[in-house]
Amino acid sequence: MHHLDIHDLKASYGGKPVLHGVTLSADKGEVVSLIGPSGSGKSTLLRVLIGLTPPDGGTVCVAGEGVDYGHRAGLRALRRRMSIVFQQFNLFQNMTALGNVAIAPIKVHGVPRREAEARALELLASVGMADHRNHYPEQLSGGQQQRVAIARALAVEPEILLLDEVTSALDPERVGEVLDTIRTLAGSGITMLLVSHEMAFVREISTRVVMMDAGQVVETGTSEQIFAAPVQARTRSFIGSII
Ligand code: ADP
Ligand code: MG
Repeated sequence: MHHLDIHDLKASYGGKPVLHGVTLSADKGEVVSLIGPSGSGKSTLLRVLIGLTPPDGGTVCVAGEGVDYGHRAGLRALRRRMSIVFQQFNLFQNMTALGNVAIAPIKVHGVPRREAEARALELLASVGMADHRNHYPEQLSGGQQQRVAIARALAVEPEILLLDEVTSALDPERVGEVLDTIRTLAGSGITMLLVSHEMAFVREISTRVVMMDAGQVVETGTSEQIFAAPVQARTRSFIGSII
């Protein structure tokens, strides 16, 4: 049994199929990266996993338990186990960094405020943002906001973290600090599904890489296999085009 098991997952937008039966898995603590051209379905796969886009078919199991995307209770249970961070950090503008990180545990999970704020401060410290706890988003750089967003995603103590192009909206000089944050997390036992254009980083950090194209998995392998010796022609041409 894998920590995350995705089997034959299908999804569509307005009747147009976009995911054509995706199967992949991740063991606990793995960093599995999704690569592939724009439009290949990477974001859609993450959106389905977190329950933002309903699946048309297939199954998702977390630690052997099937996720019920059709019901509120199923989604609520899922969001204790899985979090997502997007390219656009979407912090609450009227809340401090600390408030942003503490809010979900307080409002969604009923954690007492004092406890939630103490935990939020620890999380901010873990992403190097404790000194900025009382800053509002507009007082922070993009990289700092994204680190707060990562701390916020971790506040529900997810087992699985989904990261979708989290450095793509940042100024180049701010990318490194967010990658450093992810690198630290990668050794912490959390299971990650990562989508990133930072290919050197993907190559370095991934335990496995999944090549997607046109809503399907083309090839899966270790980082070295996919980057140094891809088997499929589609993977070779994609890797060739980006390196
Ligand atoms: P990727 O993240 O790999 O670039 P996406 O999952 O965003 O790919 O997109 C997969 C396909 O779904 C593309 O053809 C894209 O145009 C389409 N798509 C994505 N989001 C929507 C949407 N909200 N409505 C309709 N089509 C969408
Ligand atoms: Mg995308």
